[in-house]
Amino acid sequence: MISASTAGWVVAALILVKWSGETFLSWLNRGHVLRHRNTVPKAFEGIIDEATYRKSNDYTLAKSKLDQIETAWDVVVLLVVLFSGVLAWAYGVFSGRFGNSAWAMAAFLFVIGLALSLTGLPLDWYHQFRLEERFGFNTTTQKTWWLDRLKGLLLGILLGYPLLVLVLKLVEWTGPRWWLWAWAAMMGFQLIMAVLAPVFILPLFNKFTPLPEGSLRERLLKLAERTRFKARSIQVMDGSKRSRHSNAFFTGFGRFRKIVLFDTLIGQLAEVELEAVLAHEIGHFKKKHIPKMLFAAAAGSLLGFYVLSVLARQAWFYEAFGFKSGNIGIALLLFGLLAGIVTFWLSPLTHWWSRRYEYQADRFAADVMNEPGPLIGALRKLNEKNLSNLIPHPVYSGFYYSHPTLLDRDSALQPPFTTHTQLAPPN
Ligand SMILES: [Zn+2]
Repeated sequence: MISASTAGWVVAALILVKWSGETFLSWLNRGHVLRHRNTVPKAFEGIIDEATYRKSNDYTLAKSKLDQIETAWDVVVLLVVLFSGVLAWAYGVFSGRFGNSAWAMAAFLFVIGLALSLTGLPLDWYHQFRLEERFGFNTTTQKTWWLDRLKGLLLGILLGYPLLVLVLKLVEWTGPRWWLWAWAAMMGFQLIMAVLAPVFILPLFNKFTPLPEGSLRERLLKLAERTRFKARSIQVMDGSKRSRHSNAFFTGFGRFRKIVLFDTLIGQLAEVELEAVLAHEIGHFKKKHIPKMLFAAAAGSLLGFYVLSVLARQAWFYEAFGFKSGNIGIALLLFGLLAGIVTFWLSPLTHWWSRRYEYQADRFAADVMNEPGPLIGALRKLNEKNLSNLIPHPVYSGFYYSHPTLLDRDSALQPPFTTHTQLAPPN
């Protein structure tokens, strides 16, 4: 038997251990950047000018400082929410008024989630309108920013709330194996969203227009043909509405597949570099990275639901945070609040895995382009324009980075291509 107070102490300790880990990694990285702050390392000579290099380091340091404030703030909020008794009090008030039905419980979870996200709002605002602004990235207006939040809230009410009700109803309907059903419902929801989101949700936030006729479109379509990649269309997204950061991605499944390029990306790269970026994305597709990742995520969430179902049967899990035992809605809430203290330590594994896929996609792109030059050129420009940290501490990037650093990607692309490597970015 685990006592409620022991469980409480263990959870508090785990929260602080995670915080220490984050603080340590951040300290390590800051030190590394500070040591190399002013002199461009040999490996980057001729690739990046000194002013941009310094600016990227300043940006990294500023972000890291804000991150640390955010992390500390989140820890305080989490500790207060878990151990002050405010949750159990709010639940008492809420269930006294609205009862314990699945509909009422889902509403309670939704309201708590909303209240918690409000605690992060001021720092989110500061990040966008102070930090990003200072480094010239912000293009979001106040109106767009607040409208985004409002749209997010409405989508949550329209989609998230019914899903929560369904999960809680499944607990009532299906008995001890509810977690399997709940997991299946969640997977079904995600599949539907993967199809519908590009059509109905993304356009709520951004404008998508077909890439206009011309040499770029022709070049990209030829690449798609060469790699036997069927895409319905190539779309341009007005990413510049919010930020000068740039990106490219796929959406949709099967026939509905769309290639999306940020307008900012098109502005920054030469045509042959854009082709290389698209080749990299096609590489992810051809190597089946997306279904493999989805499968792993599904397995992870099945495990999560199973653990939740076990915890939901333990009296200490509720009592440690001031609740009387028994309500799965409450277990779901506590699980949602606490899962991060464990998953945080697993994230390096997923990041390592994701980096392997990035190398594979890079290699695919270099192969179909017959040379790594254009991709290397694109990566260099992207790192420069986005002021990416070029010199993260290896432990830090190993832990957090889903993409390898520029230097690692650059050198991974070199060896077998040495006979026809183009080192300067082509024009
Ligand atoms: Zn990639």
